[in-house]
Amino acid sequence: MGALLDDLVDAGHAAFVVGGSLRDALLGRPAEDWDLATDAPPERLLELHPEALYKNRFGTVIVRRDEVAYEITTFRSDHEYTDFRRPGRVEFGTSIEEDLARRDFTVNAMAWGRRPGEATPAYVDPYGGRADVDARLLRAVGDPHARFSEDALRMIRAVRLAAALDFAIDPPTLAAIRTHAALAGHLSEERVAAELEKLLAAPRPSVGLRLMASTGLLDVVFPELAAQRGIPQDKAAGEDLLDHTLRSVDATPAGRPIVRLATLLHDLGKPATRAEGHFHGHEVVGADLAAAFCQRLRMPRAVGERVALLVRHHMFTYEASWSDAAVRRFIRRIGPTAIEELLLLREADSVGSGIPADSFGLTELRERIAGQLAGPVALERGDLAIDGADLIADLGAQPGPGLGAVLDELLERVIADPALNDRPTLLVLAQELLAEEH
Ligand code: ATP
Ligand code: MG
Repeated sequence: MGALLDDLVDAGHAAFVVGGSLRDALLGRPAEDWDLATDAPPERLLELHPEALYKNRFGTVIVRRDEVAYEITTFRSDHEYTDFRRPGRVEFGTSIEEDLARRDFTVNAMAWGRRPGEATPAYVDPYGGRADVDARLLRAVGDPHARFSEDALRMIRAVRLAAALDFAIDPPTLAAIRTHAALAGHLSEERVAAELEKLLAAPRPSVGLRLMASTGLLDVVFPELAAQRGIPQDKAAGEDLLDHTLRSVDATPAGRPIVRLATLLHDLGKPATRAEGHFHGHEVVGADLAAAFCQRLRMPRAVGERVALLVRHHMFTYEASWSDAAVRRFIRRIGPTAIEELLLLREADSVGSGIPADSFGLTELRERIAGQLAGPVALERGDLAIDGADLIADLGAQPGPGLGAVLDELLERVIADPALNDRPTLLVLAQELLAEEH
C-alpha cells in the first residue's frame, strides 16, 4: 500500500489512505481493499496505471496489486443536495481537506498520506476521527442536521456502522436521526438494500435494527418489521414479536446472508394472522410478504424466491418416526441446498424463542438428512438412471410435457424405494406409466 502512495507522490501528486479502510486499520481489523484519495484526475491515474479498471462516473480507478484492490478516487467536493437521495453534483476538489469535509462521520473523515515535497506520511484529521475511533463513537462531520438533510442514507449508514463496528452513536447525532428519520423515505431502494446487506453481515444485526426502531427509521424503511412492535408473544416474558425476530436474527451465522434475511422476515405474516393468541397460516402470508419485501428492495429474483421458500416452510414438524423415504420426500420438497438453510433458520427461531437450538428433533433430522445426501439416493430428476431422451429413444414416447410428469412419478417411486433406480427397472415402470396415459 505504501508503494502505491509513493508512486503517486513521486509522480507529483498528493496521495492519502482514506475512508473505511483507514478507520478499520486503526481498529486493527484486516482490510480487504484500500481507499486512496489523490489530486490526480482519473485520466492521469489511467496514464500512470494503464492496467487499472475505470469504475464509475465519479472517476474511481481500481488498481490491483498482490491480490489487494486499491480504489483510487480523485479529491471531490459535493454540491447541491436536492432530493435527500444523493449528491446532486460532485466536482473534483483540489485538497484533501475539502475531500474529507464531504464525508459522513468523523471516523470516516480522516486521511493518512503525504503531499509532494513532504518526506513522511502523516495523519490529516480535522474532525477528531482518531479520538472517536478510540472512544468507539460515530459522530457526524459538522452539523448532523445539515448532513442528514443532505443525504438521508447517512442515517442508515450510522446504524449499520454502529452494528458492524460495535460503536455508539454520539447523542447529538442520534437525536438528529430521530428528527430526520422521515427523510429516509426518499431513498432509492437499491441504496437501502446495500446497507441492509452490510447490516446483516454485522456480528449482531439487532444492534442496528434496534437503533432503527428507536429512532423511527424502521417505520420509514421497513414498515412491515415495525408492525411487529407490540405484538405479544408467549415466548419470553415481556418481549414482543420484534424482540423475537431480532433475537432470532442474531442467532443465525454471520456468514449466511440468505439465512439471515429469511430469519429477519420469517414472521412477517404474524401481525396480519393474529387471532386469539394464534397465528394460523402466518408462514403462508409471510412468504408472500417476504417475497414482496425482497422485490421492493430490488433484490435478485433468486434471492426473493429462496427467502419466500424458507419462510413458507419454516413451521415444518419432524417426528422421529419418519421413515427414510419421508426424510427423502422432505429433502425433495425443500431442495437439497435450501434444506440446510431451513434448518439454520429453524434453529435460530428456537434460540429466538428462548429454547435450545436442537429442539424439535432438529439435530437428529440434520443427521438423517446428511445421511441421505451422502448416499447414492436420487433426490432430483437428474439423479434418475434414465432421462427424457431415453423415454423417446427406447419407448417411442412423444416429446412434450407428459415426459416430465412421467419422470416426476418415477422420482417419487425411487425416493420411496431407491432400489428401483436402474435403467431396465425404470424403463419398465415408465412403459406402464406411458400406457396409463392413453
Ligand atoms: P465499509 O467498511 O462497509 O466499506 P465504509 O465507511 O468504507 O464502510 P463505503 O460505502 O465503502 O463505506 O464508503 C467509503 C467512504 O466514503 C466512507 O468511509 C465515507 O468517508 C464516504 N462515504 C460513503 N458514503 C457516504 C455518504 N453517503 N455521505 C458521505 N460520505 C460517504
Ligand atoms: Mg469501504
